[in-house]
Amino acid sequence: MNIFFDLDGTLIDSRPRMYQLFRALVPESTLSFDAYWILKRKGISHREILTGQYSYSDIHYKNFEQAWMEKIELPQWLALDRPFDGITPFLSGIKEKHKLYIVTARQSTQEARAQINSFGWLGLFDSILVTENKQEKYVLIQESVQTNTFDWLVGDTGKDIATGKKLGMRTAAVLTGFLNRERLVMYNPDLIVDHALDLKF
Ligand SMILES: [Mg+2]
Repeated sequence: MNIFFDLDGTLIDSRPRMYQLFRALVPESTLSFDAYWILKRKGISHREILTGQYSYSDIHYKNFEQAWMEKIELPQWLALDRPFDGITPFLSGIKEKHKLYIVTARQSTQEARAQINSFGWLGLFDSILVTENKQEKYVLIQESVQTNTFDWLVGDTGKDIATGKKLGMRTAAVLTGFLNRERLVMYNPDLIVDHALDLKF
């Protein structure tokens, strides 16, 4: 069986990186970590937050978005990411029986691989698939791996669930990431679990 894992919000906690970069780019923001993530997990976008609460103009927002994309994968920000507790032994255990993959919408394959290597994870995965903003996740998987209806895609966003469904795979949504249960239900995954660790393969 093939199991495809999203990276950010699924295997690793990227919320501090995103919140801290938001604070750095929007110094006038008074949102706490929790308040920021309550908004984000409801599916409220940066554009909505910035135009709504901080009266950003279109140009002001575009500047923010550009800076975000330029900085979000710089090593000093990626250094804030942490694997979720218990995830490394969990992956080592299921690797005994299944083929594991990471499929991520990161911009940089090089930085993604360097980070995954820093967690000691390169040997756990058959392949690391990075879209680099060049293609959709489902196209990348389709071109890289022969998938089956009993394979799984595990992720924390609607896009992840849609990707698995497009490829005819089973899908599991996790609540450790960027969307809350009410949002994830809308995408009708086969399973919703608190944490990737709760999945039994
Ligand atoms: Mg994610």
